[in-house]
Amino acid sequence: MAVLVALVVIVASFALFFQDDPSKDRETIYQVSTIDALMAGLYDGVVSIDELNDHGDTGLGTFDALDGEMVMLDGVCYQVLSDGHVEVASRKGTTPFAVVTFFDEDSSTDLVDVGNFSELLSAIGSELETENMVSVIVLEGTFSYVKARSVPAQQPPYLPLEEVIVEQTIFEFENVSGTIVGFYTPEYMAGMNVAGFHLHFISSDLSMGGHLLDVSFETAELGLDLTPSCLLFTPGTDAFLDLEGGGGDIDKVEH
Ligand SMILES: [Zn+2]
Repeated sequence: MAVLVALVVIVASFALFFQDDPSKDRETIYQVSTIDALMAGLYDGVVSIDELNDHGDTGLGTFDALDGEMVMLDGVCYQVLSDGHVEVASRKGTTPFAVVTFFDEDSSTDLVDVGNFSELLSAIGSELETENMVSVIVLEGTFSYVKARSVPAQQPPYLPLEEVIVEQTIFEFENVSGTIVGFYTPEYMAGMNVAGFHLHFISSDLSMGGHLLDVSFETAELGLDLTPSCLLFTPGTDAFLDLEGGGGDIDKVEH
């Protein structure tokens, strides 16, 4: 009996130890499914927004049935619908693909005179500490131009993302303040995640956003968070278990 009690005490103290050490989780990217699976048309939600929030306060993704673009910022999960309006996502809703983490800024710098998307990518690229680790990106400012897109909800049987993307709605905003949220992901993670940059946008008044396609601005504040660990949730669905091969040409859908 004494042994059993001692064992229980040890287990309890281990549990306390891990609860007291949140840094373990905070420096971890939590990802639902793979980009290849999403591109192949696996749009059924497999993790709830509620659970996603347990793993991060910042990130991006999409929703069950590909119903819009996800932007998670300051712990709130926003859903940019294909008609352009933004809602706080239901915590009971689900996601087929998302990437989140807790944003703990390691460094901050101003980016200036960025004229387009490729200039933005090289400006952020030159601030990265390394190309071999995931960096979380939070860029805040007033943007003279933002081009973003969202996608309409799909009906099963789902078509591959490359075919669905032709239905995307493109939004253009001028002089809008807001936040660009996303990730730099190393090339060696291609297939699992979007290699290179993947960025979403949400306006400060929470009225507009989407998957970022183009941007220009005079000054914006870039925060970066180098994140060394990654936790990948792979769905136990038949569609995922039986999936073969890659998902198609990623340049057509995410860039
Ligand atoms: Zn996206």
